[in-house]
Amino acid sequence: ADRTRPIPFDNSYARLPDAFFAPVDPTPVEAPRLIAFNRTLAEDLGLDAEALARHGAAYFSGNAPLPGALPLAMAYAGHQFGQFVPQLGDGRAILLGEVIDRSGQRRDIQLKGAGQTPYSRRGDGRAALGPVLREYIVSEAMHALDIPTTRALAAVASGQPVYRDRVLPGAILTRVAASHIRVGTFQFFAARGDTGNVRVLADHVIDRHYPDLKDAEKPYLALLDAIAERQARLITAWLGVGFIHGVMNTDNMTISGETIDFGPCAFMDRYDPRTVFSSIDHGGRYAFGNQPMVGQWNIARLAEALLALLDDDQDKAVDAANAAVGRFMDKFQTQWKATIRAKIGLGADEEESDQTLIRDLLVTLYEQKADYTLAFRRLTDTAENAAADTALAALLADPAALGPWLALWRERLSREAASPQARAAAMRRVNPAFIPRNHKVEEALTAAVDHGDFSLFHALNDVLARPYEDRPAFAAYAMPPKPGEEVTATFC
Ligand code: AMP
Ligand code: MG
Ligand code: MG
Repeated sequence: ADRTRPIPFDNSYARLPDAFFAPVDPTPVEAPRLIAFNRTLAEDLGLDAEALARHGAAYFSGNAPLPGALPLAMAYAGHQFGQFVPQLGDGRAILLGEVIDRSGQRRDIQLKGAGQTPYSRRGDGRAALGPVLREYIVSEAMHALDIPTTRALAAVASGQPVYRDRVLPGAILTRVAASHIRVGTFQFFAARGDTGNVRVLADHVIDRHYPDLKDAEKPYLALLDAIAERQARLITAWLGVGFIHGVMNTDNMTISGETIDFGPCAFMDRYDPRTVFSSIDHGGRYAFGNQPMVGQWNIARLAEALLALLDDDQDKAVDAANAAVGRFMDKFQTQWKATIRAKIGLGADEEESDQTLIRDLLVTLYEQKADYTLAFRRLTDTAENAAADTALAALLADPAALGPWLALWRERLSREAASPQARAAAMRRVNPAFIPRNHKVEEALTAAVDHGDFSLFHALNDVLARPYEDRPAFAAYAMPPKPGEEVTATFC
């Protein structure tokens, strides 16, 4: 590694036109202290992990400038709960620059909570410790679950208070993303009628995230479809593990297809598609089961922003956009079918009654108030050992409720080629044992924020790093909340 440059930056976003960003330096903090440093990620990114670990508090707070960085705040707009806001932008995040990781992929490195920017509006540019730790835990858990996501490279306590509804300790998260370009970034230029920069952005995005589309007959339409495809895959993956994003505004939907913004997110315990945790989501707009529809709505906003590029004839452009938006749902349905089939151990050969089989399971889990994660994990055990039926039955309000379904399922599985052992092994790779349970996340955050005790935070990260393995020593982390432990709301 280059000793003079612990992070070998190459900054393509800073080379885009001025309207894309505002140059801004992080504002130093009083007493930075390194809480967590993700050494494995640092190495994957090709960084000088030794130097960064040694001077982590100074670098990851923004107190010590990193040579080669060109700090900037990105401009973007966005629909927040359906309302369009033409000017948002990084109000508390500062992009330091990009690196090319060991697999050749360009990745952003950003400080979140590093001080005010020209886009801060009335905000203080800072982040509280609790939400920083939540993002660290959940984004790394998502990665371990094989779900595309921004990553956490480091967390630093600032040694300064932040003022929310109470005084809280401040912190800064170092976030890594394939890029931080959002649906809202396109909307920013489209809303200003700046078609030239919509095109510059689209070309940058194609170069960076979708290079295969360069030679497509209609590259911008192909781009819209490709982004829709990645979002359909992403939302399907969320549904597969019970993830509720909580604030799927268009400024929180990436162009790369990575999960971003872990503000009020949560994992569902009991299966209920109407589940909402976010304290600001009063209407349930972003409920668990609404996420595919919201994804489509957001893709429609992207299509609008790209309209001027889709066809010289604007009537044709509208038709093309509408068709692409319609294809989003087809893509989602295809992805979801494959995902839920895998979760119950079915291969690709469909039978007519499979849809009913799947629906009946979900209806029963809902009616029986079953824990979503544990139900599928125990179904996995049952797939190779029918004696495990009792453990599955114990999750239901009426332990006998799934009996008839299990008989139908076994009969259906008898027509599949895989051996019970192979089937269970495959199911174990898609049905996690460990998710970031809200009550465990809350417990770790409370210990850190109220008592300065980070041991639960580190322990939780360790457990969540291998979510698909049975680890009896950590059985308590796999359990749903006991009465009294339930978290009913999350706050950003
Ligand atoms: P979010 O709801 O987290 O997606 O944030 C929406 C917008 O508010 C973004 O433009 C953020 O940069 C901005 N924002 C959130 N918190 C703060 C803060 N403490 N200071 C300044 N801007 C903020
Ligand atoms: Mg956001
Ligand atoms: Mg946020």
